[in-house]
Amino acid sequence: MNPIFTISAQNHSHSAQPWQQALANAIRSPETLLAALELSTEQLPPIFNGGDKFPLRVPHSFVSRMKKGDPNDPLLRQVLPLDEENNFTRGYLSDPVGDLAASEAPGLLHKYHGRALMITTGACAIHCRYCFRRHFPYHQQNAAANEWDAALSHLNQDKSINEVILSGGDPLALSDQRLATLLEQLTQIPHLTRLRIHTRLPVVIPSRITDALIAMIANCRLTPVIVIHANHANEINNELHTALKRLQAIPNITLLNQSVLLRGINDNHEALIALSEALFASGVLPYYLHLLDKAQGTAHFDVPITQAVKLLNGIHAKLPGYLVPRLAHEEAGAQGKTLITITPSHKENENINDTI
Ligand SMILES: *Cc1c(COP(=O)(O)O)cnc(C)c1O
Ligand code: SF4
Repeated sequence: MNPIFTISAQNHSHSAQPWQQALANAIRSPETLLAALELSTEQLPPIFNGGDKFPLRVPHSFVSRMKKGDPNDPLLRQVLPLDEENNFTRGYLSDPVGDLAASEAPGLLHKYHGRALMITTGACAIHCRYCFRRHFPYHQQNAAANEWDAALSHLNQDKSINEVILSGGDPLALSDQRLATLLEQLTQIPHLTRLRIHTRLPVVIPSRITDALIAMIANCRLTPVIVIHANHANEINNELHTALKRLQAIPNITLLNQSVLLRGINDNHEALIALSEALFASGVLPYYLHLLDKAQGTAHFDVPITQAVKLLNGIHAKLPGYLVPRLAHEEAGAQGKTLITITPSHKENENINDTI
């Protein structure tokens, strides 16, 4: 076996890892963030601290990929709380995707055939302002803190489930030790064949890809799929590229990305094409481009569906099919994500040449 997959003694120590320090040192105030970027509040729409329930939170590594002095930086705009979040918008809900209704056991969402999603922790490395889980009652739905038992027993009982999806919050916010314990329990469920991890942590803090994590996934009986979450090519710097290449060395791994289509951040052809190209260069295929889930406080990020379809048509005309993400959104009660189909027309293609 490749030496990269052997866990060294030092990774078993309980002292904080560099990624855990980066998590602890994350920026938590708009003043600190703007100072780091040499911006003043006058250059921005009115902002606030994000509130007690979902305060501003962004690690320095992610901030280092923002452009200094640019109030419209696409990474900054994903994390900076604007006063607009406090506007009430009709039609925006606290649980837009019907997750509470799909909860089969504390911390387990079983909405779709064959796949069950486990909420392993409520914690995230970064607070994305567009997040639909911002209102989620994690204290009731959190499978963490010795409460994995109910979720595990549901997984054990339902033989139709062959894929477990670790989600959150962010499952990689758990320590390697806790993940190892969870994987150990999951591998004992005979009908499980795949392990999927939905995580933004490698993007936000690339040093989260520790040797111990790689070894754990490589040595696990379940076939691994890791779905990262990047919305803009600027998120993919050298450090993340290197981390992704290390993940790619795990036998049989599939690396995918999901994004959210966000107004002012990636709602143009150039940005979406650059993202797909950058992902591919790091060994990751685009999987989903989600329409915004209409959670209260996120309306200023919304891109109308007609514009979304135009954008997808546009990138379809410019990229190989495998670099075009599936445009999807989630509807409460549906049997899977709703896919929005695209059919590029000659007319549309001509228009695109004008806009790129
Ligand atoms: C998105 C989602 C999945 C996975 O759906 P895929 O189409 O397989 O990616 C599974 N469970 C829940 C609750 C989801 O929201
Ligand atoms: S990392 Fe994911 S779950 Fe956490 S705030 Fe961002 S979008 Fe939401």
